[in-house]
This record gives sequence, structure tokens and C-alpha cells, in this order.
Amino acid sequence: DIALYYAKDKGRNNYQFYQTSLSTRTPELLSLEKSLRHALDRKEFLLYYQPKVNILTGEITGMEALLRWHHPEMGIVAPNIFIPLAEASGLIVPIGEWVLREACKQNKTWQDAGFSLMTVAVNLSPKQFHQPQLVETVAEILKTTGLAPEYLEIEITETTAIENLDFTTNILKQFEQMGLPLAIDDFGTGYSSLSRLQTLPFHNLKIDRSFIKELTADDKVAHIITAIVNLGRSLGLRLIAEGVEKSEELDFLKLIQCDDVQGYLFYKPLSSQQATEIIRERIKK
Ligand code: C2E
Ligand code: CA
Ligand code: CA
Ligand code: CA
Repeated sequence: DIALYYAKDKGRNNYQFYQTSLSTRTPELLSLEKSLRHALDRKEFLLYYQPKVNILTGEITGMEALLRWHHPEMGIVAPNIFIPLAEASGLIVPIGEWVLREACKQNKTWQDAGFSLMTVAVNLSPKQFHQPQLVETVAEILKTTGLAPEYLEIEITETTAIENLDFTTNILKQFEQMGLPLAIDDFGTGYSSLSRLQTLPFHNLKIDRSFIKELTADDKVAHIITAIVNLGRSLGLRLIAEGVEKSEELDFLKLIQCDDVQGYLFYKPLSSQQATEIIRERIKK
């Protein structure tokens, strides 16, 4: 329950990161939580989109929706800061619903403009995943926005997935029946084995950025990534590497036949306007 948060430096006019435990609520944290309560009403949230790229063709295969909070004084606040707060206070449920709806609306707009065959992936937090109305909510949002289910991808982390395998299986099977693509996120950080996860109906596996970051510095990490890719493939999963920043990393991932890559080497998270421009240019080619 550690949260990072911003607090304004006394005397100076800039914000600094602090780390705190959520159980010791400092005045700064309480005030941030208070403004978070109004952020939805005040329309302070926005989604950024990071393209996922086919490693062989360079085609954009999908976008990951990444939440941002435009705080009136602090400017853009990153999710690592406010998602733990939202999760602890339960605010993540309405916020997460907003994310789902906004991502589906955006993708429907892209599809209607001719950018078809592209998924938009949404991250679900643990509390959101355990929310009793989740499946109904997703179904309602797809119906209301008119987006075909195959274009809304759901990402849950390995840690969320293994917490209660029976529960996870039940929810994911319902999503699978609805036709949603399912991704296991941050793989490798949950200390589970792929064999424990093989019964879950995932289509995609995202190898956590921490591995890619160590790739060029540590030989052992290259072996670990290779093992994840080979085992994942043998289980019929599509493999995605997160946080690719260097061309050496890309070369290695090509060599071991990873399927897709996501990272600053290709694109940083983009505003919806920037994302629209990029896919429009690509369509023209
Ligand atoms: P994540 O799901 O693992 O998302 C990937 C994060 O890695 C994003 O950070 C992205 O900007 C960053 N990233 C991508 N490529 C690179 C790279 O090449 N280098 C580096 N250094 N970073 C890269 P972001 O947007 O700050 O999001 C952080 C986390 O916050 C996400 O991690 C996810 O767990 C959570 N999050 C974001 N949006 C949502 C949301 O709508 N709902 C929920 N529940 N969680 C969200
Ligand atoms: Ca993710
Ligand atoms: Ca991830
Ligand atoms: Ca991550």
C-alpha cells in the first residue's frame, strides 16, 4: 500500500515525488484524495494511447489506453500516483468505468473513420476486477458505444490473475464468451508459473518492462525472456514485450520471435489527437 504522490515544495514552485504508506495519511495525501473525489465530475481525466507494434511488419496492432489526471494545480498527474489512492478509496470503480467507456467510444470513432482491425486495451485494477457488476458493465458499455467486442482488450496483471484462480477463471470465461481479447499484464512480476495460468483463457502475454530493461545488462535475463517467449508460444499465447527503448533490445526480441513490441523506441503514450494523426498517416501509406 505504498503510494507515490506529489507535494509542492515549500518556498519553491515545483512539485516533488514523495513515497508514503497509504495507512499514514499525510495532509498532502488527504488533500490529493479529496481532489480525486471530484476529478470525475470536473472532467479532469483523460486517456493517452500507446501503440503496440507488430515486430515483423511494423504495423500498429493495437493501442493501450493509459489514464492521466489533469489536476488543476499540479498539471498532469501520472497513474502510479493516483491509482493506488483510487484503489484504496474505492474511487477506482467509477473511474475505471469511465476509462472503459472512453476507450470504447474512442475506438468506435477510429473504426468509423476507417482505422479498423485495431484493439484498444484497458487496464483493470484488482478492485475493479472484483467488482460484482463488472461483466454487466462491460456488456452495457459495448452495447451503448456500438464497439464490437473483439476490439476491446482487457489487461489484468499476473498478480491479479493468480490471487483467486477460480474467481479469475469465472470472470475471464465470461469475457471470452463475449469475444473480448484478454491479456496478462506485467508477466514475470507475480512469481507464478505459466503452467498455473495455462487454464485461464488469455490470448496475449505482456512481458514486464523490468525484464526488457535488464536485457542488455544481464545475460541471465535474456535466458529468462527466451524461456517466457517459448513457453508462452507453446501455450498458444501472443507475446508482447513492454518498455522497449533500445534497438539492441528490439534485435534480440526479433531473434527470439517475440510477436509485438510496445515502448518508447516506437511511441510514447499519445494524446487521442496525436494517436489519430499517427494512424491516419499510416493508413495513407
Ligand atoms: P502498465 O499497464 O504496465 O502500462 C505501461 C506503462 O509503461 C505506462 O506507464 C507506459 O507509459 C510505460 N511505458 C511504455 N513504454 C515505455 C518505455 O519504453 N519506457 C518506459 N520507461 N516506460 C514505458 P503509465 O502510463 O505511467 O502507467 C503506469 C501504470 O498505471 C500502468 O502500467 C498501469 O498499471 C496503471 N494504469 C494506467 N492507466 C490505467 C487505467 O486506466 N486503469 C488502471 N487500473 N490502471 C492504469
Ligand atoms: Ca497494461
Ligand atoms: Ca504492463
Ligand atoms: Ca507495469
